[in-house]
Amino acid sequence: MPIRPRRTLSAIIQWIDADHAPGGASSMRAEPDRVDWTRCIPFIVLHLGCLGVIWTGASAFAVWTAVVLYFARMAAVTGVYHRYFSHKTYSTSRPMQFVLAVLGGTAVQRGPLWWAYHHRHHHQHSDEKEDAHSPHVHGFWWSHIGWITSRRNFPTDYSKVRDLDRYPELVFLNRFDAIVPMAFALAIWGLGAFLEVHAPGLGTNRWQMLVWGFFISTTALFHGTSCINSMAHLMGRRRYEIGDDSRNSFILAVITLGEGWHNNHHRYQSATRNGFFWWEIDITYYLLRCLSWTGLIWGLKGVPASVLAEGERLDHRDSVAAAANARNVHPEYSSLKRIVPAAAAIAVATVNAAHPVLPRRAEAPAAHRDVSGLSQVPQRDLGR
Ligand SMILES: [Zn+2]
Ligand SMILES: [Zn+2]
Repeated sequence: MPIRPRRTLSAIIQWIDADHAPGGASSMRAEPDRVDWTRCIPFIVLHLGCLGVIWTGASAFAVWTAVVLYFARMAAVTGVYHRYFSHKTYSTSRPMQFVLAVLGGTAVQRGPLWWAYHHRHHHQHSDEKEDAHSPHVHGFWWSHIGWITSRRNFPTDYSKVRDLDRYPELVFLNRFDAIVPMAFALAIWGLGAFLEVHAPGLGTNRWQMLVWGFFISTTALFHGTSCINSMAHLMGRRRYEIGDDSRNSFILAVITLGEGWHNNHHRYQSATRNGFFWWEIDITYYLLRCLSWTGLIWGLKGVPASVLAEGERLDHRDSVAAAANARNVHPEYSSLKRIVPAAAAIAVATVNAAHPVLPRRAEAPAAHRDVSGLSQVPQRDLGR
């Protein structure tokens, strides 16, 4: 068979069997970056499916389903695919590991081993040429969406996930990575069909639920997650000066349930939490903490005190530098530095003046000057 039809046929087989690679997975990974349009048809269909809203319209129930499923599955991506399969930041039992893998699969971001392999590779080569999705090397759009359309990035390199590929059930989910998403889409469609008949007051139906609960929610989830590959290496603050351009961003932490503290994470990947300080909200960590109370997961890993102390020191240094910079950029800052303490002193004096001061007796001993100490004054002195 000529090479082009053979590749098209392979790509179609890969929709079902992700490990299908006639020329060998390693030779595929050695190819230069090239968009494989046939292989990407399911991904394109996912985006086009959102347009179904033109025909199905919206209902409050369907929209809220999309929102809830976005955040629930974001927690699965971050708490399971990232913090468990990629970094093993906590432990669990083998049955629970399988349940977690299925939950992660509903996010429609391929199998757990493929996800973990690529993510570990990203940490190994962050913002270097080998990094498949560095915005600094490949540009914003390639890091956000392009890299997953490239033929060379489709196979899983099982040699990078040896700790995971010894579980046949995980390898099965990874190889046939369309099963869970298809079942998930069917379940939402079925729920819509059920509600259409048994709860007509909700104003939804099978197709509307499929469009909102699956297509729109999953597309938003993909782009929310992808923001970490693209935006989290461009937008935000670098607390730790490490060998890449990862950054901390509150906005990204909100839309990804804690992954926005990406610079923290690149500094210390083994911790279950990405928000290192109490003000760095990390919903995924709070959820994992709650789950650990049930005994289903355990051994959550903390951030070493030395890494926290290093962060505090760098924050302090940055604050001092920012204040010095403010003095140069805004000359009025120096005046403020004089005015503010003076105003504070006046305010304190005013408050003190408002309190009544007990009259002193001229002949009283020194102890009387302390109003609170009156009771300690000998009676004979008071009687004078
Ligand atoms: Zn990164
Ligand atoms: Zn990571």
